[in-house]
Amino acid sequence: MKHPGISIAGTTVEAGQRTTVDLPAASLYSYAPMAIPVRVVCGKHPGPTLFACAAVHGDEINGVEIIRRLLRLPVLRQLRGTLLAIPIVNVYGFIHRSRYLPDRRDLNRSFPGSARGSMAARLAYLFVTEIVEKSDCGIDIHSGAIHRENLPHIRANLDDPKTTALAHAFNVPVLLNADVRDGSLRQQAVERGIPMILYEAGEALRFDERAARAGVKGVVSILRELEMLPAGRWQRRERQPVIARSSTWVRAPESGILTAAAPLGARLHKDDVAGIITDPFGQEESEVRSHVSGVVIGRTNLPLVNEGEALFHVATFESPKTAERVIEAFQTDPLPPEPDAGQVPPLV
Ligand SMILES: [Zn+2]
Repeated sequence: MKHPGISIAGTTVEAGQRTTVDLPAASLYSYAPMAIPVRVVCGKHPGPTLFACAAVHGDEINGVEIIRRLLRLPVLRQLRGTLLAIPIVNVYGFIHRSRYLPDRRDLNRSFPGSARGSMAARLAYLFVTEIVEKSDCGIDIHSGAIHRENLPHIRANLDDPKTTALAHAFNVPVLLNADVRDGSLRQQAVERGIPMILYEAGEALRFDERAARAGVKGVVSILRELEMLPAGRWQRRERQPVIARSSTWVRAPESGILTAAAPLGARLHKDDVAGIITDPFGQEESEVRSHVSGVVIGRTNLPLVNEGEALFHVATFESPKTAERVIEAFQTDPLPPEPDAGQVPPLV
């Protein structure tokens, strides 16, 4: 059977073709046209449609690199079904190295949007109608916000079996059960019955090599799980991920300079000291104590903190000891070899 082709923004992509389609977005006030570029990889044979997107928050660029590497993989020549790769969703924020849109709205709080709404609402609406509604499942790649770093993990609704299967297939050490946020892309996908997972890894405006390799590997594993790619070496599960049912932030008890901060992957018992806040003279010191037991999966990298600021994102696990071990193994393993991208397949 032949792939029937797919139509995105008025462009039909036929079986076996790959092409870039521009979703037309509001032009810049300089008169320059703007578009969300979508790489459409159409397999020769029919199968599911998966979207993989990044930079919904314009400064979270790790996912841009993950999608770039993904698209260079020769294995995509064997694709069944359709891959819609959108490396930069918030094109305006990306240009300005900003999380937000020029109207200072957060795109990931603006879904499903509307054709006549705010700038963010229009962009959200375009993405939902042209990408989400044409997909069977999706992956959205994020990182910590500016000056914040996340341990590579998957956020998903782990009460849904299909979503859980995708989360496990991604093969990173931590899965975090997370409720959907109002106005988020994930909420829209879920409401349409489209299983979607979120990959969180690294820091805004930075590339993280370990997170990037784990991310490329994760997307390929999902393509294999969906039988869009033949089973391969990568499908072997190296280790079972650990599952966090909830997470919480440890906040700064007062303003000052944060020192001796717990690193990503650190295990904290309740009342453990996760860092010390001091003044520039070193005269006064106060301890930042964790109010829960768990493992640090996110933290601030900026040591200048205000009272009440979120410092450590602590996930709670049934067995924190196992979680610590699994995470440490992930962090200290030699980097997995990068698959040889070889020649980029020619345009058809
Ligand atoms: Zn984000």
